[in-house]
Amino acid sequence: MKCPMQSGETAALLAYSSGKPDAARAAEWEQHVESCSACREFVAGQQAVWQALEGWEAPPATDDFDQRLYRRMELERVRPQPWWARVWRPSGSRLVRRGLPIAAAAGVLIVAGLMLERPPATRAPQPRSPQVDVLQPEQVEHAFDDMQMLGDFTRATRSDAAEL
Ligand SMILES: [Zn+2]
Repeated sequence: MKCPMQSGETAALLAYSSGKPDAARAAEWEQHVESCSACREFVAGQQAVWQALEGWEAPPATDDFDQRLYRRMELERVRPQPWWARVWRPSGSRLVRRGLPIAAAAGVLIVAGLMLERPPATRAPQPRSPQVDVLQPEQVEHAFDDMQMLGDFTRATRSDAAEL
């Protein structure tokens, strides 16, 4: 039997791990998993996860959980907030006061957003979700550093133009 890790039969391997192997090939599977350390490790890992999940109990929801959830959903619907607004608010206005043109700042933010939204080639397309959740603090900092640089550049070009 060819190793399912190499042949890409991971779904069948998962079924085997969960104790529901393809009946016709059960013996074949058993033999392979016993002899293949990679598959043995995979099966052991899966079984550990399932055991942990079986032992896990979801905490009971509080009485007003539904109410609070609906209120929150209603709030989100009434004032939808684009991700960049949430990034912008804390330090964006400070940058504007320092003379950075809003359009330039917004442009940098959009570029930063596009770079962050581009999914890695191996990842399946994700439903659109607020990308700000995956921003690392240093990424935001870099974006704002870039914005500051752009602001300095804009000021420099303006004073150059004024001298001409
Ligand atoms: Zn194997």
